[in-house]
Amino acid sequence: MNSNQTEPGGIYVHIPFCVKKCPYCDFYSITDSSFQPVFISALIKEITMAGRKSPAFDTLYIGGGTPSVLDQDAISRIIEAVYDSFKIFPDPEITLEVNPGTVKQDQLKGYRDSGVNRINIGVQSFHEGNLIFLGRIHTAGDADMTVQWARNGGFDNIGLDLIYGIPGQTRKSWFFDLEKAVSYAPEHLSCYMLTYESETPMENDRQKGLFKPLGDETVGDLFTATREFLANKGYAQYEISNYARSKSLRSRHNSKYWSFVPYIGLGPSAHSFMEPERHWNKASITAYISDVNAGRLPGGGLEVLNREQMMLEAIFIGLRKTNGIDVAGFDKKFGVSFSEIFGKQIDDLKEKGLIVENQTTCALTPKGMLFLDSIAGMFAKQDFEQESRQCK
Ligand code: SF4
Repeated sequence: MNSNQTEPGGIYVHIPFCVKKCPYCDFYSITDSSFQPVFISALIKEITMAGRKSPAFDTLYIGGGTPSVLDQDAISRIIEAVYDSFKIFPDPEITLEVNPGTVKQDQLKGYRDSGVNRINIGVQSFHEGNLIFLGRIHTAGDADMTVQWARNGGFDNIGLDLIYGIPGQTRKSWFFDLEKAVSYAPEHLSCYMLTYESETPMENDRQKGLFKPLGDETVGDLFTATREFLANKGYAQYEISNYARSKSLRSRHNSKYWSFVPYIGLGPSAHSFMEPERHWNKASITAYISDVNAGRLPGGGLEVLNREQMMLEAIFIGLRKTNGIDVAGFDKKFGVSFSEIFGKQIDDLKEKGLIVENQTTCALTPKGMLFLDSIAGMFAKQDFEQESRQCK
């Protein structure tokens, strides 16, 4: 880990089990729950092997997959192992992803007793038809009960995940989901655009013409309408898909991903980032278990980012945030002038109303956010040729 690290790092634990695979999902998970006991033992071994007492961490995010297929005892053992093996700052944010249809009230209370202090619930939609299209195992009623049980179980920091851009969705039907979500007064909301990931069953069906995706213009309209709707309800956007009731209620863990803060990923397929390296674990539960049981860290790959890649990464993650790219920080980190290197792109984008720039930041406008990937691509294209010309 980078010894210059000034902010505490984050720990991500991937639980690779789901009751059923959702057709749009490309995260690594399996549906065979018989692996659970041996997986938990292997995970605890990996946590012990990867553990370190310096530097310190202040977030633990247990995601997946569906971590809530695990009982309170398993979650307690994971949290205890993390505390035993890593240096954890006081008052860490400990998040657990929970899917409706996999939990009951007692279980949620048990998670809270185990030390989980933030819960993220995969609601996705309050429309039965959308839940069926998404292949979710739960009903809108299950989502409703899960949120209430989480509150009753003592959680005062609840995030809800919703998906928009679903075929057939209208502004009216999406607003129904948003209205329903805010009626629970969650502390945090994530609104993800439905994306068709390659080789998923949903993408295959799309290619066969089995359903008609929502048009780009309608999806763009829903994105823009979401920002306005949630702003009026007191939820400020801080990242393309994320909204919080206050700055202190933003996801502390996920914010690390968008700020170059190191994080360690544990469990199959989990990614770690320690500047300038990114590495990831094998995305196979059998290979993972066999490596760990043989006393090896279950590494699946390693990428060392060069300076240009780091600069691009800084731009991409900066553009995701409403605060934008910290221009002074960028200049200091890379020893260059962001405004000079990217002056042409910035001028073009400013003229089109896609970006705003001042002395300290460069951020996408709401309209620009709709074109994040292509805008990041524009920075990638010309900048380094230009910079290398300057450097010669
Ligand atoms: S529950 Fe979540 S992780 Fe599991 S298949 Fe569905 S979207 Fe993927």
